[in-house]
Amino acid sequence: MRSACNMSRWIDPNRPWGLTAEQAESVNNDPIICSLLQYRERLKRRLKGRTNHPKYQELNKRIASEKERLRAALLTEIQEKYEREEPVRTIERQLAGVKLDRTSKAVSYFSKDTLPEQRRLIETMILAPPGATLEEEQQRRDNAVNAVTAYCKIEEGDMCEGRKRSGGRPKRVVTKTKEPSSPEDEALKAAMLSVYIKDPKERPTACFMCLGNEHAPFYVRVYSFSSPSDLSKHFKKKHLKKVEEGEAPQCKLCNMCLNHKMHLQNHALRIHGTVS
Ligand SMILES: [Zn+2]
Ligand SMILES: [Zn+2]
Repeated sequence: MRSACNMSRWIDPNRPWGLTAEQAESVNNDPIICSLLQYRERLKRRLKGRTNHPKYQELNKRIASEKERLRAALLTEIQEKYEREEPVRTIERQLAGVKLDRTSKAVSYFSKDTLPEQRRLIETMILAPPGATLEEEQQRRDNAVNAVTAYCKIEEGDMCEGRKRSGGRPKRVVTKTKEPSSPEDEALKAAMLSVYIKDPKERPTACFMCLGNEHAPFYVRVYSFSSPSDLSKHFKKKHLKKVEEGEAPQCKLCNMCLNHKMHLQNHALRIHGTVS
């Protein structure tokens, strides 16, 4: 609930996101820092001004990290105070009839990618101030309903051509209808399903290596051996034996590069149920 209530804090331009110079400076008056600084002075005198001494350097580092820690704690405290008090101030301002400051907030609600329909949705649903009369309030509600209706006409689609957009931005592309698949495609699909085992004891009769070879003739790719042991013989003779020492074989079906011969054997057994 708290995070839902705080959602807009990330786009609230008034939220304190850093310390002012004065606030940052104020940590120097912290008792821990004061005593460390005094100790550094004494150490400096004892070392006769040799500030490159490891002990002195280490103390410097400690002072810097202590200041960093205090500043982070101070910022958290200020932000928490703002989050506690700002909603109350906003409500009090609204009750007092002060108009919402639209321009400063609106800037961060929109980006250059915002579609007109999206902009209308945000303007009518989030940024529209409450109406002063019942009629105005009803008008505000009608505007919001119309904006939602207009927005719903935009079809959400996949990301295309590698142009990823942030925030699931909808686009006006209607996805192509799938072409009916040919019997060859169906046979390939069935063969592929058969060489991915669901049970470690399953033994398919199609060769996953031949199936993954797009340059091989169709009948070779989908060929089904009369028994799993025939497939094993084929796999050892036609694929495993041909892997040279130091060569990294590939499972084109899984689009996976395997490190060596034994890796291929292991992959064949565990993923495709092919014993060798
Ligand atoms: Zn094969
Ligand atoms: Zn594979």
